[in-house]
Amino acid sequence: MRAKQLNLAIGTIAISLLIGITPVSANEIPTIDFCANKATGVVRPITEGACKKGELSLGAVAISRSRHRPKALVPQFKARYEAAKVAAKKKGYTLAITSGYRTLEQQKILYKRAVARHGSAAAASKWVLPPAKSNHPWGLALDINYGVGGTKGKKAAAWLEKNGYKYGLCRRYENEWWHFEPLVAPGQPCPVMEPYAS
Ligand SMILES: [Zn+2]
Repeated sequence: MRAKQLNLAIGTIAISLLIGITPVSANEIPTIDFCANKATGVVRPITEGACKKGELSLGAVAISRSRHRPKALVPQFKARYEAAKVAAKKKGYTLAITSGYRTLEQQKILYKRAVARHGSAAAASKWVLPPAKSNHPWGLALDINYGVGGTKGKKAAAWLEKNGYKYGLCRRYENEWWHFEPLVAPGQPCPVMEPYAS
């Protein structure tokens, strides 16, 4: 019986290799892309038709690190932010990027400064991650309204915290109300926040 199952499994893998596909488990089934209207920020699934002129493609999944370090914000992450910004504006909230893509060199300087200020690498990392760990040099982190707009700026970031998931944007850390990453597919709920970076 066991030998038969094994043969069956080997057979399935062999056939998959033969026709050039790998077996896909249920949670790996690709999800669909979403398009956002540039003028209104309204998001719709691509099942209603491909993204048109005047729309931004937001992607179908969480955006993760690419194989090579980018030199700017990852374009689809930027598109998500732009769509959310337009939608926020319609509700009377102003979103502004106060820090986005950083070079490794810039991150190094910020980290060194944080270590000096907080007294240790562990304490500093709760606020500024070392270059190798931070998602800012990967073009996958945005600081929104940090140090600008006062209470209004903070309220606008709170709007993004509540509505960002529609665009695949999530606040990541409990101690940083300003820091957002493309952690989910558009429309999926954001993961539980981490207390702080480490
Ligand atoms: Zn940040």
